[in-house]
Amino acid sequence: MSVSRVRERMRAAALRAGRNPDEVTLIAVTKGHSASEIVEAVYANGVQRFGENRVQEWRDKQPLLPAEVEWHFIGNLQRNKVKYLAAGGLTWIHSVNSTRLIQTLNTQAENHAVTFNVMLEVNVANDPNKHGADANDLPALLDAAHAAEHVNVRGLMTMAPFQPEPEASRPTFRALQELADRHGLEHRSMGMSNDFEVAIEEGSTMVRVGSALFDHLSSPPPSGRVAEGAS
Ligand SMILES: *Cc1c(COP(=O)(O)O)cnc(C)c1O
Repeated sequence: MSVSRVRERMRAAALRAGRNPDEVTLIAVTKGHSASEIVEAVYANGVQRFGENRVQEWRDKQPLLPAEVEWHFIGNLQRNKVKYLAAGGLTWIHSVNSTRLIQTLNTQAENHAVTFNVMLEVNVANDPNKHGADANDLPALLDAAHAAEHVNVRGLMTMAPFQPEPEASRPTFRALQELADRHGLEHRSMGMSNDFEVAIEEGSTMVRVGSALFDHLSSPPPSGRVAEGAS
C-alpha cells in the first residue's frame, strides 16, 4: 500500500472518531528492509520517522539514510545496547518495560548528553508472548522515570495479541488509552499494519506501520531480517 493510501486511511479513521488527524504520527517500521527499499517506499514519499527493532540492524542502516530521519526504537531492548542508541542519537524508545532499563537509559543519556523520550510498554492484554510490563507495575515505572533526570516519559505503548480480525484489537487499545489518560500521558503508541485504523479510533497518536508500506515493492525480502551485509 502506498504511503498516501496509508495516510488517507489514517485520516479517515481519525475523522470517524471525531479526532484531529494531525494528532496521529506515522512511524514507518523499516526493519528487514534495505536502505534503498526504505528510500523508494517511504522516504521518497515524505515519511521521515522510522522504527527499528534491532540495535545492530539500526546501526548498520542509520549511516546509509539521510541525517534528518528521526529514528524510533520499538523492539525489546537489552541494557548493554543502550549506549549505542545514546551515542548514535536515537532518542525515541517505545519499548521501555522495567525500572532497571530506565536507570540504564538515564545513565547513558547523561554520558552522551542526550534526553530519551520513552514510551512505557504495557502488556494490557496479559499476552504471555509479549514483553510489556504488567499494568499494575505502571506506577512504579512512572516513579522511576520521574526520578530519572534524562528520561522523559511521553506515553504508553502496547501491541495487541495477533488476531486476523482488526476489531479484536479494540479492547487492548481502549485499555491503553484509558491508562494513558489516567496518568495524564500525551502519547499512545499503538496500531500496526493490520489494525492501525482501529488503534486511531481508540486514541493512538503514533501508529507503527511496517509491512503494509512495503508490500508493493518489486522484491520484498523473504522474512523480517536484512541479510548480513545486504543493506
Ligand atoms: C514489526 C513491528 C511493527 C510493524 O508491524 P507490521 O505488522 O509489519 O506493520 C510494529 N511494532 C513493533 C514493535 C514491531 O516489531
